[in-house]
Amino acid sequence: MIIQKILPHKILPLITKVINNLDSTKHIARPLIAWYAQNQRDLPWRHTRDPYHIWLSEIILQQTRVQQGLPYYQRFIAAFPTVRILSEAKEEEVLRLWQGLGYYSRARNLHACAKTVVQEHNGRFPDNFKDLLKLKGIGRYTAAAIASFAFGEVVPVVDGNVYRVLARLFGITTNIAQPPAFNEFFALASELIDPEQPDTFNQAIMEFGAMHCTPQKPLCLYCPLQAVCYAYQHSMQKDFPVKKKATKVKHRYFHYFIILNPAGEILMRPRPAGDIWRGLYDFYLVEDNTLLDTDAIKDEGIQQLMAKNSILVEESEVYKHQLTHQLLHVKFFVLQASEQALQTFTAERSQLQAFNPAETLALPKPVLIKNVLEKLNF
Ligand code: SF4
Repeated sequence: MIIQKILPHKILPLITKVINNLDSTKHIARPLIAWYAQNQRDLPWRHTRDPYHIWLSEIILQQTRVQQGLPYYQRFIAAFPTVRILSEAKEEEVLRLWQGLGYYSRARNLHACAKTVVQEHNGRFPDNFKDLLKLKGIGRYTAAAIASFAFGEVVPVVDGNVYRVLARLFGITTNIAQPPAFNEFFALASELIDPEQPDTFNQAIMEFGAMHCTPQKPLCLYCPLQAVCYAYQHSMQKDFPVKKKATKVKHRYFHYFIILNPAGEILMRPRPAGDIWRGLYDFYLVEDNTLLDTDAIKDEGIQQLMAKNSILVEESEVYKHQLTHQLLHVKFFVLQASEQALQTFTAERSQLQAFNPAETLALPKPVLIKNVLEKLNF
């Protein structure tokens, strides 16, 4: 077989030659589409050509599993049935619905993009890959998904599933964690896509990667692409795709003070710009280079509170919370503050506002804060 003589490699012209010799429509596109017809999951965004619905589903599903993302998609469609209604919503409302999905910049970009579509495109999404790319939060993957699923444009999607399927099929050794890999896989997928049904081909290859050619246990014995698959022929499924990340995790140490006023309300504040969780609500925070016990915390505000008859009611265990490039080590301290102490404290720290427990439920919060409030029965 030609493929096995010249692979693995990462030279597109050679792959193109192989594809031409191979008759990719017959050996790859058609079997994938036939597999998809038999095995696809019934998902709501597959029954629509509405670019707004497709866009919402794609943004929600980035870095999120389908089962987790599905209820969010349904809630967003119910709360914001059109892009215009979404564009008119308050950011807090959008963040609150997004709560639990993480990567909150995606929610902000979603909101900003809705505004642009309404203000600059009269509420209609651009109908092609190139113009969709100009919108905030829409990268090449999402633009291709909308362009092909909503408008039938012949442009391939390349997501993690597509990387894996193509890398295994062709034995591609390019490191997919490096940005140049995208162009290579995009060009290869452009050679393979079925121009008669680009939307179905795209859905098929992604679904095939998600359900059949899975990362850990690909179902090679029942695979319709077995005969042309480099990884299968060489028992190298685990070697593809090649992904080497060199990211450094930053450790941060948070001391959160859950300050209660005499009325039993909790002081919370929206997080400032320029750091994680912008606009979500948390508590009074003291950050240090390491985790400290209460008496070692030299924060002026806390010292003032303690000096004026405030009482430390509870100190939590240490929570670890993983973000993309940060690991948070977090301790919570519940502090019952006196009226006298709060007068100067809250005046100085005007971002803090008092909320009764029911009101805190409605605030957009990082999932860590939400869980702790629930655990402490607030
Ligand atoms: S044979 Fe195995 S590795 Fe190759 S495409 Fe099929 S499931 Fe994936």
